[in-house]
Amino acid sequence: MDVPFSAKAVVLPRSTQDVSNILKICHDHSQPVVMHGGLTGLAGGTEVSANEIVISLEKMKAIEDIDEKSRTITVEAGVILEEVHEAVLSKGLIFPLNFGAKGSAQIGGIVSTNAGGLRVFRYGMMRNLVLGLEVVLADGTIINSLKKIIKDNSAYDLKHMFIGSEGTLGVVTKAVLRLMEAPRSRNSAFVAFNEYEKVVSFLKYMDKGLAGTLSGFELIWDKAYEGLSSSKSSVKPPLPYGHQYYVLLESLGSHPEADRLAMEQLLSDALEMGNILDAVLAQSESDHRWFWTLREDVQPLLHYSAYEQLFDISLPTGLIGKILDTIEKEVTEISGVEHCFIFGHIADGNVHLVIGKNSDDQILTKMVNEAVYQPLKAIGGSVSAEHGIGVHKKQYLSYSRSLEEIELMKTLKKTLDPNNILNPGKIFI
Ligand SMILES: Cc1cc2nc3c(=O)[nH]c(=O)nc-3n(C[C@H](O)[C@H](O)[C@H](O)COP(=O)(O)OP(=O)(O)OC[C@H]3O[C@@H](n4cnc5c(N)ncnc54)[C@H](O)[C@@H]3O)c2cc1C
Repeated sequence: MDVPFSAKAVVLPRSTQDVSNILKICHDHSQPVVMHGGLTGLAGGTEVSANEIVISLEKMKAIEDIDEKSRTITVEAGVILEEVHEAVLSKGLIFPLNFGAKGSAQIGGIVSTNAGGLRVFRYGMMRNLVLGLEVVLADGTIINSLKKIIKDNSAYDLKHMFIGSEGTLGVVTKAVLRLMEAPRSRNSAFVAFNEYEKVVSFLKYMDKGLAGTLSGFELIWDKAYEGLSSSKSSVKPPLPYGHQYYVLLESLGSHPEADRLAMEQLLSDALEMGNILDAVLAQSESDHRWFWTLREDVQPLLHYSAYEQLFDISLPTGLIGKILDTIEKEVTEISGVEHCFIFGHIADGNVHLVIGKNSDDQILTKMVNEAVYQPLKAIGGSVSAEHGIGVHKKQYLSYSRSLEEIELMKTLKKTLDPNNILNPGKIFI
């Protein structure tokens, strides 16, 4: 639910120098600030209290350079992801990062959360797509490293310290992003299974068979599939109900005819061998939209209960079936839990859960959190695959990170932000 925020002030810098001037004053007066990008973050990282100042980068929206030879785009932090997609389209290039909030999420927010999404399996997370970064430190110092080079081993790669730091170490003001050649073919298919082991074998089979063009491999559990395509949704089910798992896969290649034939042949062989139970291949652009809307628009899952808890966990792909069975059983046995919808980018080991409840009672919330997070400790999983820690998960950071790691993170924070003005109270208890 959206709640209005109260803050001491909202400042809208127009340049890096403005950001630097603002931070210098705030640093000198120990004035806490909270960075706002597109406000699509799902970990509470933009929550603000009445004594804090919001720095919104929405006026820093310039696309400064598109370099076709180096295959890079240089943008200010307030540029929206979809604007980057559109800006490079006519050059025959793509910026491959893509997710449901692309129409609002800003590059600064995406860098600061190290967002992932639907094509991480092939192209990596934001971290893998940032070549250069400009950041303003808490005391106003501008660190400019807007390089267009892929390889740079001249000592520490400092940009990675800020990527994923959720606005606690510096304000991202500009970024150089890596572009890729635009694919000339796209094939999407829905495939049905009843056994998780067969899903994993199918992932290997398709990855091998498609020779590097497999770009997305999303898994939707039966209840989520039904929830996403029921009367509460405008999307109809591409495959009939009754199976336990539904995979939505995508290949992006350069030979439309051959790529389509390859996908058809692989699916038909898998059907014949009994490795998959049913499959449907997108036949048109509108089919692609239909299939991907079902997966990307998870809003219908939020209409089943009065309250929800959202999860974004990581675990080794091979263990997902078994561990999620256990988690689902435990969660649904908790009194007050009404629904447990599961889906995710399983080729990356990333699973999302939407857990619907009849109350927002704090004890219930804690019980659900424990049921989901507890099993991750022993298997080297993570309480946050993509959304970050923010305020919602800080109590559980130690489930994914050792005490020594957390101490080192705090040392970094103290060194770079001695007056604790950048997003205070986020990430750490
Ligand atoms: C429908 C939907 C689907 C989503 N799907 C995905 C997905 O598939 N994968 C994924 O990873 N995420 C996903 N998200 C989460 C979200 O979109 C990402 O976390 C996104 O990167 C946040 O960008 P933003 O500009 O909205 O940042 P905000 O929400 O404004 O901020 C996020 C964090 O970054 C900080 N911040 C923002 N701008 C800056 C800056 N310039 N400098 C320093 N710190 C800054 C904020 O203080 C906050 O801590 C989804 C969200 C929605 C609503």
